[in-house]
Amino acid sequence: MTLHLRHHSIEMALYTPFVIARGRSLQARNEVVELYDDQSGLTGLGLSAPAAFYGETTQTVGIMLERFAGMLGDDPDHIEHIMTHIDESVHYNQSAKAAVDIALHDLLGKKLNAPLYKILGLDPERTCRTSFTIALDTPEAMAERARAAAERYPILKIKIGTPNDEPRLRAIREAVPTDTIIRVDANTGWTAKEAIQHLNRLAEYGIEYVEQPVRAEDLEGLAEVTRNVPMPVIADESCVTLMDIQRIVGKCDGINIKLAKCGGLSNALKMIHTARAFGLRVMVGCMVESTIGTTAMAHLTPLVDYADLDGHLLISDDPYTGVAVEQGKLILPDAPGIGVQPRA
Ligand code: MG
Repeated sequence: MTLHLRHHSIEMALYTPFVIARGRSLQARNEVVELYDDQSGLTGLGLSAPAAFYGETTQTVGIMLERFAGMLGDDPDHIEHIMTHIDESVHYNQSAKAAVDIALHDLLGKKLNAPLYKILGLDPERTCRTSFTIALDTPEAMAERARAAAERYPILKIKIGTPNDEPRLRAIREAVPTDTIIRVDANTGWTAKEAIQHLNRLAEYGIEYVEQPVRAEDLEGLAEVTRNVPMPVIADESCVTLMDIQRIVGKCDGINIKLAKCGGLSNALKMIHTARAFGLRVMVGCMVESTIGTTAMAHLTPLVDYADLDGHLLISDDPYTGVAVEQGKLILPDAPGIGVQPRA
């Protein structure tokens, strides 16, 4: 039997520019992987959503995928062994690895004629509600976007991490229904001292948790913030792969796991269980990405506390359809594998 790996880039437009504390983007570039199994005649779909912050572009992903194509062995069902072999052979390039891993899971589900959640033994009713992200802008623009979003999404994730976020939070709180849940993400924007000052002031606006207040490598700062702010602190940029968990235990309240950071569903599952063993809260997130990626991750949300899987909701021309979102609740497709289809 032979597996054929094909890949192509997709460039997608965003409804609004995606601005965070450390950058802005106007479109999303992803790499789609198709793994064709000539024995079953089935194709597994995967996605890489590379982030320059982690040293990847669609170009580096393309180069890596050519290399991974020769490392798939002779049985696509052996996902754990294939991905371990790739992980041990190539460092980093996690989003390229994720594309292969997702495609292998999708292919397995199609071969078994079962949705991924079923193969994993998970109850699809227990998926999370996803948050919807409001990117950085003026307080007025953010409040207007939050007001519109809150009609469909009861949980909002607000991008902050600037010297002056209080007017933003105040305007947003005034614009949304009182029961709207608000979480915030500073994307490494502050020093520990700034984070402690800002977050204690912002607490009055009712914040569920804060993501990544300080620089990725500033673990002592992360610990200091966690000790001195009233809301839970979730590590995102400071917790990239499975091996990072041991370094951040005791320094934050939880971690944000993303396929593009950890290398795929196999590693995401390992991170979920490892985080649980250390008593950490677990969140799953995404990049600005096609629903191939967010749908794959949505299958794991029955295992986690929080989901921020809105990447595809920010895109106006995603060529694929998959997970549905109803009042924030992630509704998994019943189709075999991850359940994603090309948009008709
Ligand atoms: Mg984040």
